[in-house]
Amino acid sequence: MRLRTGDIVEVISGDDKGVRGKILRVDRKTGKLVIEGVNQVKKHMHRTRKTPQGGVLTREMPLGVSKVMIVCPKCNKPTRIGARTLPDGAKERFCRKCSASLGLIGAPRVKSAPKPSTTSEG
Ligand SMILES: [Zn+2]
Repeated sequence: MRLRTGDIVEVISGDDKGVRGKILRVDRKTGKLVIEGVNQVKKHMHRTRKTPQGGVLTREMPLGVSKVMIVCPKCNKPTRIGARTLPDGAKERFCRKCSASLGLIGAPRVKSAPKPSTTSEG
């Protein structure tokens, strides 16, 4: 999954088709995303000690990652994400439509520590 928390995505299928929102949470195990304002359910709460006011709460439910596409900040369209390696070895996500950068993938590559072994090759 190339999507990350904070990405703006557009829902491409289901009840919320066409709705855009920010990714609040990514669950890599189940491949699901929680997106701000998308897939909201109303939960009727009884008055309890935890929720003294009771009433109706809305909360976002996780959505399958295949139901959304990232919105490119440059061309402002839902797009597929490409990945490319930069000259310095870092990996970057990019928009397949306009090839604008969508940010680096993960942390910059950590330089591998030189091995302490002094064995000479040959
Ligand atoms: Zn683009």
